[in-house]
Amino acid sequence: MTFRASVLTLYPDMFPGPLGHSMAGRALEEGKWALDVTNIRDFATDKHKTVDDTPAGGGAGMVLRCDVVASALDAVSYGTRPVLAMTPRGKPLTQARVRELAAGPGAVILCGRFEGFDERLFEARNIEEVSIGDYILSGGEMAALVLLDACIRLQDGVMGAASSGEEESFEEGLLEYPHYTRPVEWEGRTIPEVLRSGDHAKIAEWRKSRAIDDTRARRPDLWEAHGEHPDQSPSAAR
Ligand code: SAM
Repeated sequence: MTFRASVLTLYPDMFPGPLGHSMAGRALEEGKWALDVTNIRDFATDKHKTVDDTPAGGGAGMVLRCDVVASALDAVSYGTRPVLAMTPRGKPLTQARVRELAAGPGAVILCGRFEGFDERLFEARNIEEVSIGDYILSGGEMAALVLLDACIRLQDGVMGAASSGEEESFEEGLLEYPHYTRPVEWEGRTIPEVLRSGDHAKIAEWRKSRAIDDTRARRPDLWEAHGEHPDQSPSAAR
C-alpha cells in the first residue's frame, strides 16, 4: 500500500517543495509515496474566483468559505484516508499520531490561509484539526509539509537500512540521547569516554540514562507523561 498525500491549498506550487529533495524526493520519484495537489481556487464559482469572505460578527481578516473548500474536498477520491486540516486550534501533532498516520493509506490535508476555515466545514466533513505547535504560521502549507515529512520518512525503504527511527526522540516518550562524532577532541571538548570504550552494554546504559536525565531537565511535560518507571532512575554516568 503506497502512502498517498492529497493536499488542498491556494498555493499548489508550494508542493512538493522541500519534499521533492533528499530522502523524500527520491522516495517520491521511486513511488514509495504519492502526492496530488488541488488548487482550492479552482472550485470558486464566481467570475472573480473568490474563496473567502469577511468574518461573521465582524473583525479583521477573511475566512475561507466552507462551500468552496467542501467542493474542492469532495472532488478528491479519498477512500479511507483521514481528512486533516492544519489549524493552530487543532490537536498538537505527536510522534504517536505520526506513526498511526504513516502506517495508514495516507492523508488528505487542507491548508488554511487568512483567518482560517469556516468552522462548519470540520463537522460537516468529519475533519481532524491538527496543529504543529503553539505559534502562528501565515498558512497551512508549511504545517502540511512538516506533517508529511514526518510520515514519509517512516515509509518502508525511505530511511534506508541504517535507521529504523525507533531510537529517536519521542519514540519511547523520551528525548533521544546526545550524539558525537570525530574529531575526538574539538576546541578542548572531548567525546564522553564511555562512547569510546567499545563496551556496548555500558554505552546502552549511558544513552538510556542521558535520555532520561535530559528529558527530565528539558521537557518535564514529556517526563510527566512518560509515567512511573521504577527501573529508570536518573543516572550518575557521565
Ligand atoms: N486566525 C487563526 C488563529 O488565530 O488560530 C490563525 C490563522 S493562520 C494566520 C492561517 C493558516 O495557517 C491557518 O488556517 C492554518 O492552516 C495555518 N496555521 C498557522 N499556524 C498553524 C499551526 N501552528 N499549526 C497548523 N497550522 C497552522
